[in-house]
Amino acid sequence: MKLLQDRIIADGNVKSGNVLKVDNFLNHQMDIELFNEIGKEFKQIFSECSINKILTIEASGIGIACITAQYFNAPVVFAKKAQSINIDGDVYSTKIESFTHKKTYDVIVSKKFLCPEDRVLIIDDFLANGCALAGLIDIVRSAGATVEGIGIVIEKGFQNGGDMIRNMGVRLESLAIIESMDAERGTIEFR
Ligand code: 5GP
Repeated sequence: MKLLQDRIIADGNVKSGNVLKVDNFLNHQMDIELFNEIGKEFKQIFSECSINKILTIEASGIGIACITAQYFNAPVVFAKKAQSINIDGDVYSTKIESFTHKKTYDVIVSKKFLCPEDRVLIIDDFLANGCALAGLIDIVRSAGATVEGIGIVIEKGFQNGGDMIRNMGVRLESLAIIESMDAERGTIEFR
């Protein structure tokens, strides 16, 4: 998606440790006009799928998921990061290791909001090592629901999450795939 690539080049900041900061339009301040274009693009890509629910994870996936959901006329469910002691039998839960915080979280979705009839589009802002997506897929499958597809805004193609998720046989579409980036030179190359 050219508009997105141009914005990443203009406003993205490459940090050490393979982290791309896009605080100015995606992760802190949110550019809703851009989000609208992203939502439209996901709708076009997954137009032939019958999707009745959007699933994301708190916190930074929520904004993108909500704007995208308007194009699918579907509700958004976001997986919550929880304390293990709060986990009871009314939730689906999984463990996710955070790429940016290097911590492992328990993540939960209430059983009230996912059922076997659901055809789910998973949406997230970034794909790095794929832990977040693997956890969300696990939750959908625990509910007996179907993952129709996954829409990612920025995939870091030089990390292994994309291959791992595609090898699971799930349809994964990323609007921008970064082939390489260099913190010292501040350069970003797309696939
Ligand atoms: P994964 O589970 O694929 O390793 O990491 C995905 C999650 O980590 C995303 O939901 C996102 O919040 C965060 N993340 C991973 N890499 C980056 C990055 O380079 N920049 C930002 N801002 N977030 C990232």
